[in-house]
Amino acid sequence: MQKAQCGNTPANKVPHVGNRVWGDEDEVVRAVMDYARRRILRAPDPVAGARSATELALAAGTAITPWGIGAATALKLFDQVLAPATRAQSGSANLAYIPAAPTRAALAFDAVTGAANIFAGTWESGAGAIHAENEALTWLTQLLGWPSTAAGCFVSGGTMGNISALITARAAAATSGPRPADGWKIVCADSAHSSIRSAAQAMDVEVVTAPVDQRGHLTGAAVNTVLRSTPGVFAVVATAGTTNAGLIDDLDDIADACERHHVWLHVDGAYGGAGLAAPSVRHLYTGIERADSFIVDPHKWLFAPYDCCALLYRDPAAARVAHSQSAHYLDAIDRDVHNPADLALHLSRRARGLPLWFSLAVHGTERYTKAVEQTLTTSRLVADAIRASDHLRLTIDPELSVVLFERPGWGPQDYASWSAWAAETGTMLCVPTQWDDATVLRMAFVNPDTRADEVIDALLTLR
Ligand SMILES: *Cc1c(COP(=O)(O)O)cnc(C)c1O
Repeated sequence: MQKAQCGNTPANKVPHVGNRVWGDEDEVVRAVMDYARRRILRAPDPVAGARSATELALAAGTAITPWGIGAATALKLFDQVLAPATRAQSGSANLAYIPAAPTRAALAFDAVTGAANIFAGTWESGAGAIHAENEALTWLTQLLGWPSTAAGCFVSGGTMGNISALITARAAAATSGPRPADGWKIVCADSAHSSIRSAAQAMDVEVVTAPVDQRGHLTGAAVNTVLRSTPGVFAVVATAGTTNAGLIDDLDDIADACERHHVWLHVDGAYGGAGLAAPSVRHLYTGIERADSFIVDPHKWLFAPYDCCALLYRDPAAARVAHSQSAHYLDAIDRDVHNPADLALHLSRRARGLPLWFSLAVHGTERYTKAVEQTLTTSRLVADAIRASDHLRLTIDPELSVVLFERPGWGPQDYASWSAWAAETGTMLCVPTQWDDATVLRMAFVNPDTRADEVIDALLTLR
Protein backbone atom coordinates (compact mmCIF):
# COMPACT_ATOMS: atom_id res chain seq x y z
CA MET A 1 0.00 0.00 0.00
CA GLN A 2 1.39 3.35 -0.97
CA LYS A 3 1.84 5.79 1.86
CA ALA A 4 -0.49 8.78 1.71
CA GLN A 5 1.43 11.88 0.76
CA CYS A 6 0.59 15.52 0.94
CA GLY A 7 1.34 17.26 -2.32
CA ASN A 8 3.72 20.07 -1.50
CA THR A 9 5.38 20.72 -4.84
CA PRO A 10 3.72 23.53 -6.78
CA ALA A 11 3.29 22.80 -10.48
CA ASN A 12 5.81 25.49 -11.49
CA LYS A 13 8.56 23.92 -9.35
CA VAL A 14 8.35 20.44 -10.82
CA PRO A 15 11.08 19.89 -13.41
CA HIS A 16 9.66 18.67 -16.67
CA VAL A 17 11.19 15.66 -18.26
CA GLY A 18 11.47 14.56 -21.82
CA ASN A 19 10.45 11.09 -22.75
CA ARG A 20 12.53 8.42 -24.32
CA VAL A 21 10.05 7.82 -27.09
CA TRP A 22 8.22 11.13 -27.53
CA GLY A 23 11.22 13.34 -26.94
CA ASP A 24 10.94 16.82 -25.47
CA GLU A 25 7.32 17.89 -26.13
CA ASP A 26 7.84 21.38 -24.71
CA GLU A 27 7.18 23.21 -27.97
CA VAL A 28 4.08 21.16 -28.68
CA VAL A 29 2.63 21.94 -25.26
CA ARG A 30 3.37 25.64 -25.62
CA ALA A 31 1.76 25.84 -29.06
CA VAL A 32 -1.32 23.93 -27.96
CA MET A 33 -1.78 26.00 -24.77
CA ASP A 34 -1.40 29.27 -26.66
CA TYR A 35 -3.98 28.08 -29.14
CA ALA A 36 -6.37 26.96 -26.39
CA ARG A 37 -6.10 30.35 -24.72
CA ARG A 38 -6.90 32.22 -27.94
CA ARG A 39 -9.74 29.85 -28.73
CA ILE A 40 -11.37 30.27 -25.30
CA LEU A 41 -11.18 34.06 -25.50
CA ARG A 42 -12.38 34.62 -29.03
CA ALA A 43 -15.99 35.12 -30.09
CA PRO A 44 -17.72 32.09 -31.63
CA ASP A 45 -18.15 32.12 -35.41
CA PRO A 46 -21.91 32.06 -36.15
CA VAL A 47 -21.63 30.64 -39.66
CA ALA A 48 -19.25 27.79 -38.89
CA GLY A 49 -20.86 24.42 -39.51
CA ALA A 50 -20.71 20.95 -40.94
CA ARG A 51 -19.44 20.13 -44.42
CA SER A 52 -20.00 16.90 -46.28
CA ALA A 53 -17.71 14.01 -45.41
CA THR A 54 -16.30 13.97 -48.94
CA GLU A 55 -15.57 17.68 -48.92
CA LEU A 56 -13.92 17.44 -45.51
CA ALA A 57 -11.76 14.47 -46.47
CA LEU A 58 -10.52 16.41 -49.45
CA ALA A 59 -9.83 19.59 -47.47
CA ALA A 60 -8.19 17.84 -44.51
CA GLY A 61 -5.96 15.40 -46.38
CA THR A 62 -3.94 12.90 -44.37
CA ALA A 63 -2.82 13.90 -40.88
CA ILE A 64 -1.87 10.55 -39.43
CA THR A 65 1.25 9.28 -41.12
CA PRO A 66 4.02 6.91 -40.01
CA TRP A 67 6.39 9.83 -39.38
CA GLY A 68 4.07 12.51 -37.92
CA ILE A 69 3.29 15.94 -39.38
CA GLY A 70 4.33 17.96 -36.31
CA ALA A 71 2.43 20.29 -33.99
CA ALA A 72 2.34 23.40 -36.17
CA THR A 73 0.82 21.61 -39.16
CA ALA A 74 -1.62 19.57 -37.09
CA LEU A 75 -2.81 22.65 -35.18
CA LYS A 76 -3.21 24.64 -38.38
CA LEU A 77 -5.29 21.84 -39.82
CA PHE A 78 -7.55 21.87 -36.75
CA ASP A 79 -7.85 25.64 -36.72
CA GLN A 80 -8.43 26.22 -40.42
CA VAL A 81 -10.25 23.11 -41.62
CA LEU A 82 -11.63 20.97 -38.80
CA ALA A 83 -12.85 23.48 -36.19
CA PRO A 84 -14.66 25.65 -38.78
CA ALA A 85 -16.57 22.53 -39.80
CA THR A 86 -18.19 22.36 -36.34
CA ARG A 87 -21.10 24.42 -35.07
CA ALA A 88 -20.38 27.02 -32.40
CA GLN A 89 -22.68 25.89 -29.60
CA SER A 90 -22.21 29.04 -27.58
CA GLY A 91 -23.01 31.64 -30.23
CA SER A 92 -25.57 34.11 -28.89
CA ALA A 93 -27.74 33.52 -31.99
CA ASN A 94 -27.66 29.74 -31.58
CA LEU A 95 -31.16 28.85 -30.41
CA ALA A 96 -31.34 25.46 -32.13
CA TYR A 97 -31.83 22.15 -30.30
CA ILE A 98 -30.49 22.96 -26.83
CA PRO A 99 -27.23 24.85 -27.31
CA ALA A 100 -24.63 25.64 -24.64
CA ALA A 101 -23.02 28.72 -23.17
CA PRO A 102 -20.11 27.75 -20.93
CA THR A 103 -18.36 30.46 -18.92
CA ARG A 104 -14.80 31.10 -20.00
CA ALA A 105 -13.70 30.14 -16.49
CA ALA A 106 -15.28 26.73 -16.99
CA LEU A 107 -13.80 26.32 -20.48
CA ALA A 108 -10.33 27.21 -19.26
CA PHE A 109 -10.60 24.89 -16.30
CA ASP A 110 -11.68 22.08 -18.59
CA ALA A 111 -8.22 22.38 -20.12
CA VAL A 112 -6.73 22.14 -16.61
CA THR A 113 -8.89 19.09 -15.89
CA GLY A 114 -7.44 17.50 -19.00
CA ALA A 115 -3.92 18.52 -18.02
CA ALA A 116 -4.26 16.96 -14.55
CA ASN A 117 -5.50 13.63 -16.02
CA ILE A 118 -7.11 12.52 -12.77
CA PHE A 119 -8.68 9.09 -12.48
CA ALA A 120 -11.89 10.13 -10.76
CA GLY A 121 -13.63 6.77 -10.59
CA THR A 122 -12.41 5.99 -7.09
CA TRP A 123 -11.76 8.13 -4.03
CA GLU A 124 -8.33 6.56 -3.63
CA SER A 125 -7.05 8.03 -6.87
CA GLY A 126 -9.27 11.08 -7.25
CA ALA A 127 -10.09 12.30 -3.71
CA GLY A 128 -9.23 15.99 -4.15
CA ALA A 129 -11.07 16.26 -7.45
CA ILE A 130 -14.04 14.25 -6.19
CA HIS A 131 -14.26 16.46 -3.10
CA ALA A 132 -14.59 19.49 -5.39
CA GLU A 133 -17.13 17.75 -7.64
CA ASN A 134 -19.13 16.87 -4.53
CA GLU A 135 -19.16 20.50 -3.48
CA ALA A 136 -20.80 21.37 -6.81
CA LEU A 137 -23.24 18.48 -6.33
CA THR A 138 -24.05 19.77 -2.84
CA TRP A 139 -25.08 23.11 -4.34
CA LEU A 140 -27.56 21.19 -6.52
CA THR A 141 -28.72 19.05 -3.58
CA GLN A 142 -29.52 22.22 -1.67
CA LEU A 143 -31.43 23.66 -4.63
CA LEU A 144 -33.43 20.43 -4.71
CA GLY A 145 -34.20 20.66 -0.99
CA TRP A 146 -32.71 17.19 -0.46
CA PRO A 147 -31.05 15.98 2.76
CA SER A 148 -27.27 16.24 3.10
CA THR A 149 -27.04 12.44 2.89
CA ALA A 150 -27.89 12.66 -0.82
CA ALA A 151 -25.02 11.84 -3.16
CA GLY A 152 -24.17 11.32 -6.77
CA CYS A 153 -21.58 11.79 -9.45
CA PHE A 154 -21.02 13.35 -12.84
CA VAL A 155 -21.55 11.29 -15.98
CA SER A 156 -21.21 12.21 -19.64
CA GLY A 157 -24.76 13.33 -20.36
CA GLY A 158 -28.44 13.03 -19.64
CA THR A 159 -28.65 9.75 -21.53
CA MET A 160 -26.10 8.12 -19.21
CA GLY A 161 -27.63 9.80 -16.17
CA ASN A 162 -31.12 8.54 -16.97
CA ILE A 163 -30.09 4.95 -17.63
CA SER A 164 -27.92 4.87 -14.50
CA ALA A 165 -30.80 6.15 -12.34
CA LEU A 166 -33.24 3.67 -13.91
CA ILE A 167 -30.86 0.74 -13.38
CA THR A 168 -30.69 1.78 -9.72
CA ALA A 169 -34.49 2.04 -9.51
CA ARG A 170 -34.92 -1.45 -10.93
CA ALA A 171 -32.32 -2.89 -8.58
CA ALA A 172 -34.15 -1.26 -5.67
CA ALA A 173 -37.46 -2.77 -6.80
CA ALA A 174 -35.85 -6.18 -7.30
CA THR A 175 -34.87 -6.33 -3.63
CA SER A 176 -38.53 -6.46 -2.62
CA GLY A 177 -39.83 -8.95 -5.14
CA PRO A 178 -38.97 -11.15 -8.11
CA ARG A 179 -39.13 -10.03 -11.72
CA PRO A 180 -42.84 -9.71 -12.63
CA ALA A 181 -44.17 -12.40 -14.93
CA ASP A 182 -44.57 -10.00 -17.84
CA GLY A 183 -41.43 -7.98 -17.08
CA TRP A 184 -40.53 -4.67 -15.47
CA LYS A 185 -42.07 -1.41 -16.63
CA ILE A 186 -41.34 2.33 -16.60
CA VAL A 187 -44.12 4.93 -16.65
CA CYS A 188 -43.54 8.27 -18.38
CA ALA A 189 -45.28 10.71 -20.70
CA ASP A 190 -44.78 10.86 -24.45
CA SER A 191 -43.03 14.17 -23.82
CA ALA A 192 -40.23 12.41 -21.89
CA HIS A 193 -36.85 12.56 -23.61
CA SER A 194 -35.94 9.93 -26.21
CA SER A 195 -33.18 8.64 -23.90
CA ILE A 196 -35.82 7.14 -21.58
CA ARG A 197 -37.01 4.84 -24.37
CA SER A 198 -33.45 4.10 -25.27
CA ALA A 199 -32.68 3.17 -21.64
CA ALA A 200 -35.78 0.97 -21.51
CA GLN A 201 -34.70 -0.80 -24.66
CA ALA A 202 -31.19 -1.40 -23.34
CA MET A 203 -32.63 -2.67 -20.04
CA ASP A 204 -35.23 -4.81 -21.81
CA VAL A 205 -38.11 -3.19 -19.93
CA GLU A 206 -41.40 -1.86 -21.24
CA VAL A 207 -42.40 1.81 -21.39
CA VAL A 208 -46.00 2.52 -20.43
CA THR A 209 -47.03 6.03 -21.45
CA ALA A 210 -49.35 8.12 -19.34
CA PRO A 211 -51.21 10.92 -21.14
CA VAL A 212 -50.40 14.59 -20.57
CA ASP A 213 -53.15 17.11 -19.84
CA GLN A 214 -54.14 20.10 -21.99
CA ARG A 215 -51.19 22.09 -20.59
CA GLY A 216 -48.81 19.38 -21.77
CA HIS A 217 -48.05 18.24 -18.21
CA LEU A 218 -47.84 14.71 -16.88
CA THR A 219 -50.20 14.80 -13.89
CA GLY A 220 -50.48 12.86 -10.64
CA ALA A 221 -53.94 11.65 -11.66
CA ALA A 222 -52.65 10.19 -14.94
CA VAL A 223 -49.76 8.46 -13.16
CA ASN A 224 -52.10 7.17 -10.48
CA THR A 225 -54.45 5.66 -13.06
CA VAL A 226 -51.63 3.84 -14.79
CA LEU A 227 -50.03 2.62 -11.55
CA ARG A 228 -53.39 1.32 -10.27
CA SER A 229 -53.89 -0.89 -13.32
CA THR A 230 -50.32 -1.84 -14.25
CA PRO A 231 -48.29 -4.37 -12.27
CA GLY A 232 -44.49 -4.44 -12.44
CA VAL A 233 -43.79 -0.72 -12.61
CA PHE A 234 -40.42 0.04 -10.95
CA ALA A 235 -40.07 3.73 -11.86
CA VAL A 236 -41.99 6.79 -12.92
CA VAL A 237 -40.03 9.33 -14.93
CA ALA A 238 -41.22 12.94 -14.68
CA THR A 239 -39.60 15.71 -16.67
CA ALA A 240 -38.64 19.05 -15.19
CA GLY A 241 -38.31 21.01 -18.41
CA THR A 242 -39.33 18.93 -21.44
CA THR A 243 -36.83 19.15 -24.27
CA ASN A 244 -39.37 20.06 -26.91
CA ALA A 245 -41.35 22.70 -25.02
CA GLY A 246 -39.68 23.40 -21.67
CA LEU A 247 -42.68 22.24 -19.63
CA ILE A 248 -42.49 20.98 -16.06
CA ASP A 249 -44.65 17.99 -15.10
CA ASP A 250 -46.79 18.17 -11.95
CA LEU A 251 -44.01 16.92 -9.70
CA ASP A 252 -45.76 17.15 -6.33
CA ASP A 253 -48.88 15.25 -7.46
CA ILE A 254 -46.73 12.68 -9.25
CA ALA A 255 -44.71 12.24 -6.04
CA ASP A 256 -48.03 11.55 -4.22
CA ALA A 257 -48.90 8.83 -6.72
CA CYS A 258 -45.42 7.28 -6.48
CA GLU A 259 -45.56 7.31 -2.70
CA ARG A 260 -48.98 5.69 -2.66
CA HIS A 261 -47.78 2.88 -4.94
CA HIS A 262 -44.24 2.61 -3.53
CA VAL A 263 -42.64 3.35 -6.89
CA TRP A 264 -39.32 5.13 -7.50
CA LEU A 265 -39.62 8.68 -8.85
CA HIS A 266 -36.90 9.83 -11.22
CA VAL A 267 -36.94 13.46 -12.32
CA ASP A 268 -35.23 14.23 -15.60
CA GLY A 269 -34.07 17.84 -15.41
CA ALA A 270 -31.31 17.50 -18.04
CA TYR A 271 -32.31 20.82 -19.57
CA GLY A 272 -34.73 22.37 -17.07
CA GLY A 273 -33.02 21.44 -13.81
CA ALA A 274 -31.06 24.67 -14.07
CA GLY A 275 -34.28 26.57 -13.37
CA LEU A 276 -34.01 25.44 -9.73
CA ALA A 277 -31.50 28.26 -9.35
CA ALA A 278 -34.01 30.87 -10.58
CA PRO A 279 -36.43 32.28 -7.95
CA SER A 280 -38.90 33.41 -10.65
CA VAL A 281 -39.68 29.79 -11.64
CA ARG A 282 -38.65 27.81 -8.55
CA HIS A 283 -42.29 27.23 -7.48
CA LEU A 284 -42.87 25.17 -10.64
CA TYR A 285 -40.53 22.50 -9.20
CA THR A 286 -42.45 21.96 -5.95
CA GLY A 287 -42.37 18.25 -5.13
CA ILE A 288 -38.90 17.69 -6.56
CA GLU A 289 -37.67 17.36 -2.98
CA ARG A 290 -39.56 14.05 -2.89
CA ALA A 291 -37.88 12.49 -5.96
CA ASP A 292 -35.58 9.50 -5.50
CA SER A 293 -33.17 10.45 -8.28
CA PHE A 294 -32.54 13.47 -10.46
CA ILE A 295 -30.32 14.57 -13.31
CA VAL A 296 -29.31 17.92 -14.74
CA ASP A 297 -26.90 18.60 -17.61
CA PRO A 298 -24.69 21.55 -16.65
CA HIS A 299 -23.57 21.47 -20.31
CA LYS A 300 -27.03 22.70 -21.27
CA TRP A 301 -28.19 25.58 -19.07
CA LEU A 302 -25.62 25.72 -16.26
CA PHE A 303 -22.76 27.22 -18.25
CA ALA A 304 -20.41 24.22 -18.22
CA PRO A 305 -18.68 22.72 -21.27
CA TYR A 306 -19.37 19.25 -22.69
CA ASP A 307 -19.71 16.69 -21.43
CA CYS A 308 -21.31 17.03 -18.06
CA CYS A 309 -24.39 15.56 -16.37
CA ALA A 310 -24.95 15.63 -12.62
CA LEU A 311 -26.70 12.48 -11.39
CA LEU A 312 -28.06 12.59 -7.84
CA TYR A 313 -29.75 10.09 -5.53
CA ARG A 314 -31.66 11.17 -2.45
CA ASP A 315 -30.31 7.97 -0.84
CA PRO A 316 -27.27 6.57 -2.67
CA ALA A 317 -27.36 3.12 -0.99
CA ALA A 318 -29.40 1.50 -3.77
CA ALA A 319 -27.09 2.97 -6.41
CA ARG A 320 -24.06 1.36 -4.76
CA VAL A 321 -25.79 -2.01 -4.82
CA ALA A 322 -26.77 -1.56 -8.46
CA HIS A 323 -23.55 -0.18 -9.89
CA SER A 324 -20.49 -1.33 -7.91
CA GLN A 325 -18.44 -3.52 -10.22
CA SER A 326 -16.72 -6.48 -8.65
CA ALA A 327 -13.69 -8.47 -9.78
CA HIS A 328 -10.48 -9.63 -8.17
CA TYR A 329 -8.49 -6.80 -9.74
CA LEU A 330 -10.92 -4.39 -8.01
CA ASP A 331 -10.73 -6.09 -4.59
CA ALA A 332 -8.32 -3.41 -3.30
CA ILE A 333 -10.86 -0.61 -3.80
CA ASP A 334 -12.15 0.80 -0.51
CA ARG A 335 -15.96 0.60 -0.73
CA ASP A 336 -16.57 2.54 2.48
CA VAL A 337 -15.73 5.84 0.83
CA HIS A 338 -17.39 7.87 -1.92
CA ASN A 339 -16.45 6.22 -5.22
CA PRO A 340 -18.21 7.83 -8.18
CA ALA A 341 -17.66 4.56 -10.05
CA ASP A 342 -20.10 2.87 -7.63
CA LEU A 343 -23.00 5.18 -8.49
CA ALA A 344 -23.44 4.96 -12.27
CA LEU A 345 -22.78 2.87 -15.34
CA HIS A 346 -19.07 3.61 -15.60
CA LEU A 347 -15.70 2.82 -14.02
CA SER A 348 -12.91 4.97 -15.49
CA ARG A 349 -13.97 8.58 -15.59
CA ARG A 350 -12.48 12.06 -15.90
CA ALA A 351 -13.35 14.59 -13.20
CA ARG A 352 -15.79 16.25 -15.56
CA GLY A 353 -17.50 18.14 -12.74
CA LEU A 354 -14.38 20.24 -12.12
CA PRO A 355 -15.06 22.95 -14.73
CA LEU A 356 -18.49 23.56 -13.14
CA TRP A 357 -16.96 23.56 -9.64
CA PHE A 358 -14.25 26.04 -10.66
CA SER A 359 -16.67 28.38 -12.39
CA LEU A 360 -19.06 28.27 -9.40
CA ALA A 361 -16.12 28.98 -7.09
CA VAL A 362 -14.90 31.88 -9.24
CA HIS A 363 -18.23 33.56 -9.91
CA GLY A 364 -20.35 32.54 -6.92
CA THR A 365 -23.82 31.01 -7.00
CA GLU A 366 -25.56 34.42 -7.07
CA ARG A 367 -24.17 35.02 -10.56
CA TYR A 368 -25.52 31.66 -11.66
CA THR A 369 -28.95 32.69 -10.44
CA LYS A 370 -28.57 35.96 -12.31
CA ALA A 371 -27.46 34.23 -15.52
CA VAL A 372 -30.39 31.76 -15.51
CA GLU A 373 -32.82 34.60 -14.74
CA GLN A 374 -31.31 36.61 -17.60
CA THR A 375 -32.09 33.86 -20.12
CA LEU A 376 -35.62 33.55 -18.71
CA THR A 377 -36.11 37.30 -19.11
CA THR A 378 -34.87 37.11 -22.70
CA SER A 379 -37.30 34.29 -23.52
CA ARG A 380 -40.20 36.20 -21.94
CA LEU A 381 -39.39 39.35 -23.93
CA VAL A 382 -39.18 37.36 -27.16
CA ALA A 383 -42.43 35.50 -26.35
CA ASP A 384 -44.15 38.85 -25.64
CA ALA A 385 -42.94 40.24 -28.96
CA ILE A 386 -44.30 37.18 -30.78
CA ARG A 387 -47.66 37.54 -28.98
CA ALA A 388 -47.80 41.17 -30.03
CA SER A 389 -46.66 40.64 -33.63
CA ASP A 390 -49.04 40.47 -36.56
CA HIS A 391 -47.04 37.93 -38.55
CA LEU A 392 -46.26 35.29 -35.88
CA ARG A 393 -48.20 33.23 -33.35
CA LEU A 394 -47.03 31.84 -30.03
CA THR A 395 -47.83 28.10 -29.99
CA ILE A 396 -47.89 27.67 -26.20
CA ASP A 397 -47.12 29.87 -23.21
CA PRO A 398 -43.51 29.14 -22.29
CA GLU A 399 -42.80 27.99 -18.72
CA LEU A 400 -39.00 28.07 -18.97
CA SER A 401 -36.74 29.20 -21.79
CA VAL A 402 -38.04 27.20 -24.75
CA VAL A 403 -40.29 29.21 -27.08
CA LEU A 404 -42.49 27.49 -29.69
CA PHE A 405 -44.05 29.68 -32.36
CA GLU A 406 -45.54 29.64 -35.84
CA ARG A 407 -45.72 31.70 -38.98
CA PRO A 408 -49.39 31.28 -39.96
CA GLY A 409 -49.71 30.15 -43.56
CA TRP A 410 -46.36 28.39 -43.67
CA GLY A 411 -45.84 24.67 -44.10
CA PRO A 412 -42.92 22.35 -43.30
CA GLN A 413 -41.07 23.27 -46.50
CA ASP A 414 -41.24 27.03 -45.78
CA TYR A 415 -39.92 26.52 -42.26
CA ALA A 416 -37.10 24.28 -43.48
CA SER A 417 -35.91 26.73 -46.12
CA TRP A 418 -36.13 29.75 -43.81
CA SER A 419 -34.22 27.81 -41.13
CA ALA A 420 -31.48 26.87 -43.63
CA TRP A 421 -31.27 30.46 -44.89
CA ALA A 422 -31.03 31.85 -41.34
CA ALA A 423 -28.23 29.40 -40.51
CA GLU A 424 -26.22 30.10 -43.67
CA THR A 425 -26.39 33.85 -43.22
CA GLY A 426 -25.58 33.71 -39.50
CA THR A 427 -28.93 35.38 -38.76
CA MET A 428 -29.85 32.75 -36.20
CA LEU A 429 -29.88 29.03 -35.61
CA CYS A 430 -33.50 28.02 -35.15
CA VAL A 431 -34.90 24.69 -36.32
CA PRO A 432 -38.46 23.40 -36.74
CA THR A 433 -40.09 20.80 -34.51
CA GLN A 434 -43.58 19.31 -34.17
CA TRP A 435 -46.31 20.34 -31.76
CA ASP A 436 -49.76 18.70 -31.90
CA ASP A 437 -48.88 17.20 -35.28
CA ALA A 438 -48.05 20.59 -36.80
CA THR A 439 -44.66 21.95 -37.80
CA VAL A 440 -43.62 24.91 -35.66
CA LEU A 441 -40.38 26.74 -34.91
CA ARG A 442 -38.51 26.30 -31.66
CA MET A 443 -36.00 28.51 -29.86
CA ALA A 444 -34.11 27.40 -26.74
CA PHE A 445 -32.46 30.16 -24.71
CA VAL A 446 -29.54 29.16 -22.50
CA ASN A 447 -27.11 31.98 -23.23
CA PRO A 448 -27.22 35.10 -21.04
CA ASP A 449 -25.49 36.97 -23.88
CA THR A 450 -28.40 36.45 -26.25
CA ARG A 451 -30.20 39.76 -26.67
CA ALA A 452 -33.98 39.84 -26.96
CA ASP A 453 -33.96 42.86 -29.33
CA GLU A 454 -31.58 41.09 -31.73
CA VAL A 455 -33.72 37.95 -31.76
CA ILE A 456 -36.90 40.02 -32.28
CA ASP A 457 -35.22 41.79 -35.21
CA ALA A 458 -34.15 38.48 -36.69
CA LEU A 459 -37.73 37.21 -36.46
CA LEU A 460 -38.78 40.01 -38.85
CA THR A 461 -37.17 37.92 -41.61
CA LEU A 462 -40.13 35.53 -41.20
CA ARG A 463 -42.49 38.10 -42.72
C1 LIG B 1 -30.90 16.70 -23.50
C2 LIG B 1 -31.80 15.86 -22.69
C3 LIG B 1 -31.44 14.54 -22.35
C4 LIG B 1 -30.24 13.86 -22.93
O1 LIG B 1 -29.06 14.45 -22.49
P1 LIG B 1 -27.67 14.21 -23.24
O2 LIG B 1 -26.73 14.97 -22.39
O3 LIG B 1 -27.83 14.77 -24.62
O4 LIG B 1 -27.43 12.74 -23.26
C5 LIG B 1 -32.27 13.85 -21.49
N1 LIG B 1 -33.39 14.42 -21.00
C6 LIG B 1 -33.77 15.67 -21.31
C7 LIG B 1 -35.02 16.22 -20.72
C8 LIG B 1 -32.98 16.43 -22.17
O5 LIG B 1 -33.37 17.68 -22.50
